[in-house]
Amino acid sequence: MSSRVVIVGAGFGGIAAAIELRRQGIEDVTILERAGGLGGTWRHNTYPGAACDVPSHLYSYSFAQRRDWTRLCSPQPEILAYAEAVAREHGVDRLVVGDTEVTACRWDETTATWTIETARGTSYTADAIVLATGQLHRPATPAIPGAESFAGKTMHSAEWDPQLDLRDQRVAVIGTGASAVQLVPEIAPLVRSLTVFQRSGNWFLPRRNRPYPRAWRAAVAHVPGLQRWRRAFVTHYGEALTAMIRHPRTLGRIGALRSALFMRAQLRDPELRRKAWPDYAFGCKRVLFSSAFLPALARPNVELTTDPIASIGPRGPVTASGRSIDVDTIIYATGFRTSEFVAPMEVAGAGGRTLREAWQDGASAHLGITVPGFPSMFLMYGPNTNTSGGSILVYLEAQASYLAQALALVGARGGAALDVRPEVAAASDRAVQGRFQGTAWTACDSWYRDGEGRIVANWPGYMREYVDQTAVLDPSAFTVVPAPVPATAAQPADSVST
Ligand code: NAP
Repeated sequence: MSSRVVIVGAGFGGIAAAIELRRQGIEDVTILERAGGLGGTWRHNTYPGAACDVPSHLYSYSFAQRRDWTRLCSPQPEILAYAEAVAREHGVDRLVVGDTEVTACRWDETTATWTIETARGTSYTADAIVLATGQLHRPATPAIPGAESFAGKTMHSAEWDPQLDLRDQRVAVIGTGASAVQLVPEIAPLVRSLTVFQRSGNWFLPRRNRPYPRAWRAAVAHVPGLQRWRRAFVTHYGEALTAMIRHPRTLGRIGALRSALFMRAQLRDPELRRKAWPDYAFGCKRVLFSSAFLPALARPNVELTTDPIASIGPRGPVTASGRSIDVDTIIYATGFRTSEFVAPMEVAGAGGRTLREAWQDGASAHLGITVPGFPSMFLMYGPNTNTSGGSILVYLEAQASYLAQALALVGARGGAALDVRPEVAAASDRAVQGRFQGTAWTACDSWYRDGEGRIVANWPGYMREYVDQTAVLDPSAFTVVPAPVPATAAQPADSVST
């Protein structure tokens, strides 16, 4: 019997999973999406300058390559249009049920099925669930004393108000991560004044990202192999960056030197250079690709401050040194709640045990995909599958293939579901955590860690290793949950069968 699968989330992960399942002959697939349509992070992040800092020849599915990218790193509208086009071409756009937030997924032992509940009051029944909500979907806004008293406009970078007109405004941007670095150079020329609050400096590498010259676009479109070579080149570049992060004392020094030379050339003012300079190992936090951010800080209407915000009053931030900075708008470019993964969705597996309980010592999953006690629940972009050097789409494709293999195995064994063996999951977690030793990721605090300091976001190795390890599912890593006798397989009366 073919499985009924519910996918939660219609970003790149959910789309990849749906395409792969359909390709393997699994037709009964539903994608539940909180937003009004597909695209995930590329639908939500519409701040000025939003773009991918991974070149599009790699930040695209291997099975849906394009020869007409307009720039090295595509802007948000181009990436969203790509996601929509690929979903359409593969017939999975019509599987998306939008405006449907999943609140809970519960495993029912008597029927060996999942019940998926939504905020709309509907419920679905499925043999397998794919949780593709991503790591970067819940904006994090720090609780700064007095923030609610601010009289101006407040906004998170991931919740950009398209009506906002920043011309001639006094603006504060809090944070200097990947989002701020794209946003600041775009708004700096418009605003009257811009104060950028930096808690940590960053390592930078160049990224000019001008539109491709017409000749280059024509060459990519018509010269056989050029686009493939481009993808291979970017892949090797990403793996080289990972090598630098993995070996901070040797290769990492080369990365740090390259970055330092670039930053020195960009930061002519010694005082600004001192303030912007990072104080941790190259690659510990995400290396930022921008040739526009540091020069923007040197504009006469822009100030970089490292004076921490102590509070926010009606007129704006007040710093620890007692300075009041009057602004009209505060933009929080403060990132996402990354270590909670599928939260706030409640996911209850065998025996009613929730994922929150299973992860009380830190999130982990076998290959970032399966968790013991959660039969036929598959995570896309789960724990320890983020990359600091490469494209997350490479990982998502590997995960999609892996879960399709898992469902094929269930069918072949005549079972109801697959459950990863606890000892297998524990061993793979030990292996993953062990591989962080001696790497730059351990050299500072970052969003890759959870509250206890455990690195839960990142894969500790290369793209190639992840693809190799997920390429062929090892049946001995799983137990097969037997199919219940048919009489018990009734669905709830109000459910929508998928
Ligand atoms: P982020 O990298 O987590 O950066 C958040 C920034 O806010 C950091 O500078 C952080 O400082 C600062 N911050 C957080 N809490 C603060 C507080 N209480 N007070 C002062 N500063 C505070 O978030 P992001 O820039 O949104 O990027 C998140 C991830 O999204 C990236 O790492 C990347 O994976 C992805 N992203 C990718 C692209 C792309 O082009 N592919 C673009 C945007 C985002 P600390 O460094 O001191 O914590």
